[in-house]
Amino acid sequence: MAFNEVDSPVSMFNLNVKLDIVPEPNPLDIFLRDYAERMTIPLPEEMDSIEDYDQIHCNFSGGKDSIALVLLLLYGYKVPKEKLVLVHMRVDGPEEKKAFFDWKETDEYLKYCSGKLGIPLIMLSSDISLKERIEMRGMWPSSAMQFCTSYLKRDVYSKWARSLGSGKYLCVSGERAEESSRRAKKKVFETYKHANAPTKKRYVDWLRPVHHLLETEVWELMRLAGIDPHPCYEYVSRCSCKFCIFLSPAEMAKVAELHPLDFNELVEMEKRMGHTMRYEKKNPVSLLDFVKKGALDFKFDERPCAV
Ligand code: SF4
Repeated sequence: MAFNEVDSPVSMFNLNVKLDIVPEPNPLDIFLRDYAERMTIPLPEEMDSIEDYDQIHCNFSGGKDSIALVLLLLYGYKVPKEKLVLVHMRVDGPEEKKAFFDWKETDEYLKYCSGKLGIPLIMLSSDISLKERIEMRGMWPSSAMQFCTSYLKRDVYSKWARSLGSGKYLCVSGERAEESSRRAKKKVFETYKHANAPTKKRYVDWLRPVHHLLETEVWELMRLAGIDPHPCYEYVSRCSCKFCIFLSPAEMAKVAELHPLDFNELVEMEKRMGHTMRYEKKNPVSLLDFVKKGALDFKFDERPCAV
């Protein structure tokens, strides 16, 4: 993977990072500003003024929506760059741990984005990776029990936000109404109750600033900012976990083709746990059967590690 080299201020739990980089001048800046201004809508009335927040934590997966939300805040709502931090939750544990559910390109891509945007990046993680968590529970996460998100993202962020002490913080995330009826129902603004603690003078709110944007508008913001998309978009529609439980059969087949050893490990996990990642009408569907549905011409060796 080759992104234009840009220095990135990366930090683990360290907010005192000095920005001494100057992002590349972007010839499309004027168009970006104009477009981002047109994409803004009034912020929710119940929300305090954005200037009142000490720090704004951009929930940053490296996906297009997380990039669009930063661009909209910077160029549309004119939020001072100094208030922003990119916060990434790595589901495979600290950076030195090999990527398994995370795309292997993500760590480098996040640094590229941090450099392009000129905003510090903080990588957070749990000591227990998603794979370890699944094996400990002996089951896969599901839409009804999405413990991957709650343990590896929500709890990790909340713990870190609590460690910041007193202050007023705004968490911003990139859910859009267009994506699904479930996301459409999400509030644009609410209290981040897992980290909020008024008795300790720590206030944490949650804003979804791109909730109203369409996918085409998100891509346009990125294009005008001159930011390359994460390489995973060549294969899947969303930049989420490489083996996200919500992948379509065709997407899972494609990822399996790209990462046969990792996929084989998932197949072995299913056998060990006696629990399948996917179900159809309450009937278990093995991953091998699942990928066959999406890949009529996809020739997967059921035992790619076999010699
Ligand atoms: S991307 Fe998918 S697998 Fe990963 S945490 Fe989110 S829902 Fe779970």
